[in-house]
Amino acid sequence: MIPHEQFRMTPSRRAILDGISGAACHPTADEVYEMVRRALPRVSLGTVYRNLELLTRHGLIRTLADGRGQRHYDAVLEDHCHVRCEACGRVDDVRVTSPGQLVDAVEDGGGYDIHGYRLSFTGLCPDCASERERSAPGRQLEGGDDESQGNED
Ligand SMILES: [Zn+2]
Ligand SMILES: [Zn+2]
Repeated sequence: MIPHEQFRMTPSRRAILDGISGAACHPTADEVYEMVRRALPRVSLGTVYRNLELLTRHGLIRTLADGRGQRHYDAVLEDHCHVRCEACGRVDDVRVTSPGQLVDAVEDGGGYDIHGYRLSFTGLCPDCASERERSAPGRQLEGGDDESQGNED
């Protein structure tokens, strides 16, 4: 990490940090850009990308890969776990107690002194799960939008 003296908080960096901290889940660069634009309408996407990288380098935010080539940004710096939706790429925090046993196992097994961890789960978010449920075979609606018809043959 680069010493903090070299870091200057500019309005766009402040807006980026505020946007990420205030977001419900972990926004992508494009989503951060949309949020920052509300505060600073003239900001460019390039500025947002550059500052996201800089804020990550200075340890003020974390970058998460979602396995689909998109990066998500996180203002929560304490070690915590994530769950990623395989369908839409959404990333949420997982509230689990520290996986101390896992850390012990890694230290015992590999002789490493473990300072942190990144644990992520994958699955379907509630929206995508109910979407899949609706379109599951056998539950398909018979033609059209009218559910009340119920004409089975
Ligand atoms: Zn999803
Ligand atoms: Zn997180």
